[in-house]
Amino acid sequence: MERIENILKQYWGYTSFRPLQEEAMACVMEGRDSVVVLPTGGGKSLCFQAPAIALPGMAVVVSPLISLMKDQVDALVANGVRAACIHSMMSDAERRAVDAEIRSDRLKILYVSPERLVQDRFLAYLHAAKVSFLVVDEAHCISQWGHDFRPEYRQLRGLRDTFPNLHVHAYTATATRHVREDIASELALRDPSVLVGSFDRPNLTYRAEPRRDSFRQINEVLARHSGESGIIYCISRREVDALCERLNDAGHHAVAYHAGMADNDRRNNQEAFIRDKADIMVATVAFGMGIDKPDVRYVIHAGMPKSIEHYQQESGRAGRDGLEAECRLFYSGADFMIWKNILSKVDAEAAEAAFSKLEEMQRYCTGLACRRAALLSYFGERYPKERCGACDFCLGELDTVENSPTVVRAILTCVDELGAMAGPTYTALVLTGSTEERVLAKGHNQLGSYGSLASEDQRSVRDWIEQLVSQDYLEKTGEYHVLHCTQKARELDEKLPSLARTSARPKRVSKAAAQSWEGVDEGLFEHLRALRKHQADTLGVPPYVVLTDAALRDMARKRPRTMGEFLGVSGVGHKKWHDFGEIFLGAIRDYCEKHGLSGGAAAIGPGQHRERPSGRRLSVVERERQTAALFAEGRSIEEVSGQLQLAASTVEGYLLKFIENEDRTSPAPWVSDGVLERVRACAQDLGTERLKPIYEALEGEIEYGLIRLCVACIKNGG
Ligand code: ADP
Ligand code: ZN
Repeated sequence: MERIENILKQYWGYTSFRPLQEEAMACVMEGRDSVVVLPTGGGKSLCFQAPAIALPGMAVVVSPLISLMKDQVDALVANGVRAACIHSMMSDAERRAVDAEIRSDRLKILYVSPERLVQDRFLAYLHAAKVSFLVVDEAHCISQWGHDFRPEYRQLRGLRDTFPNLHVHAYTATATRHVREDIASELALRDPSVLVGSFDRPNLTYRAEPRRDSFRQINEVLARHSGESGIIYCISRREVDALCERLNDAGHHAVAYHAGMADNDRRNNQEAFIRDKADIMVATVAFGMGIDKPDVRYVIHAGMPKSIEHYQQESGRAGRDGLEAECRLFYSGADFMIWKNILSKVDAEAAEAAFSKLEEMQRYCTGLACRRAALLSYFGERYPKERCGACDFCLGELDTVENSPTVVRAILTCVDELGAMAGPTYTALVLTGSTEERVLAKGHNQLGSYGSLASEDQRSVRDWIEQLVSQDYLEKTGEYHVLHCTQKARELDEKLPSLARTSARPKRVSKAAAQSWEGVDEGLFEHLRALRKHQADTLGVPPYVVLTDAALRDMARKRPRTMGEFLGVSGVGHKKWHDFGEIFLGAIRDYCEKHGLSGGAAAIGPGQHRERPSGRRLSVVERERQTAALFAEGRSIEEVSGQLQLAASTVEGYLLKFIENEDRTSPAPWVSDGVLERVRACAQDLGTERLKPIYEALEGEIEYGLIRLCVACIKNGG
């Protein structure tokens, strides 16, 4: 396995394994069939790609979509791996080039479609080549129990007989046991090693809240992710078109994707998204399969998906690169009805199962518990921790209602008094003391519970009713969702359920997010991102093929100065070092000079605190003392920088320390209180964990350095 570790470092620039990667690679190396089940972003591709390089011959990988194959091959080639694919859309010349490479025994990885792998001519061709092992990617496609059954995959049944001497390795992100067993038996795997990873995606933050003013709610998320890539899922095509247009009118750069569009438009929009030419993809569920974009920083559901499986899959497209990402879900009772309508059109038996999935989904939305634990438990996995620290519930963003017991009693009483003949909306009307005709006509204004929650708004009351349903105190039945009290409600004792109110509080930041930004200079990161885009456009590849966000962040953290240091950046293998080292080093050097940032060994990584090299130069501590004295006299940044011969931004750094150490609440005289006010106004909505959203909200008018000073004052209570 030492060989593999070297390959990982040399080709990918990675120094450690993700969970189960090492075990999965060992299966390939040692020649034992395997079924590997890891979530999206779990790093499945590397499990067979690294061994393919290590072993003599060429690995053959079956993949369902041409777009997926091409992406994988592009990424491999960019890392210096000899890889190619054969598919129906190739020109003869392209095909001949691949043939030549195979014949010269140089190719390490060949991607093919399942149809191709059963064609006699192609098989004869493969038999002549030296094949090291076979891989079936997206292996759930072979199972009728999976969510994406593909008849072409069924043809792979004969694979074992055709290649009796080759080991077969199957990979999938579909966890169910049924599918797993199906894969092993359909492919006739021999005593396979079955590796199933955890489905937890620790870098994703989950939030779900009732839909109020959806455009405003969506914009609130977008504001915190400006300039980043994200997907917004809508239920209908009409909504997709409308939202996309509205976002563009509001100055965003969004594109649309749904099955009702012309193929060409769809392809162009997808391409624009993948190449970072558009930030936002507004789409129906039709979008996503075959998309490997690793740096999707948020997935918004503008409406409730029809099942938790769908939610898991769609939200799972966020953060494949392992960096923090946000999954946000806006739901409403109306979504439930819309889906019910759609689902009732399928045959009765299927509809029954679909309804129960829909109900599970709604339960997730209105549930008052850790979202991560809820998702995992749906898939049969127990989340071991009490609090995940990365969902709205665990981050404490849901305000619990102060007088929950009273509210709960009022609701249950009202449901009882209405005698199982009303749905949530009507019940909320009665509770809030509505004077609508239909309430008065039925005499429900005479009920004891009428108006008992008159001080609350109807929407909150409706939310609470849903929360009680999800906690099994109430039950909805029939086409009209008539409410009943359950046995659990009747046995209600002192331990009353609690209810939550969606708060308008700024969203908190998960630990994963805080860690991945630790020590990263955000200004430099953005600068490098722009450079990457330029490089990618020149080369005609998606930006992530040049370098991943994770690599750029590590660069903006370590700020390498030499080619040697550049090789130490995570995600930079030899080829990328060779292809992009000079260019990126130059950009880092210029940026650091302009902004007075230290680089290389002096840059501080997460959790590390390196000393400056000793010498005749003043130590940081001495410098700090010296600058603090001048700041205390009220000297300006220019004065201090002139007097001590330091770059202005270095002085800014010391000023920041000064403000922090002195607990200053105002940045005057260095920054005007007017600027502080503007920053504060933004920080109220956007939080203070990240500067970029504030910078963008201020339209770039205020430099990062100044924002940082203001934020320090705000944190001091200013
Ligand atoms: P999957 O196919 O399971 O969805 P990928 O193979 O696409 O996942 O990997 C997701 C991302 O994680 C890719 O950007 C990949 O380069 C990165 N990655 C995989 N393994 C590692 C590792 N050991 N260290 C760092 N990054 C990794
Ligand atoms: Zn949680």
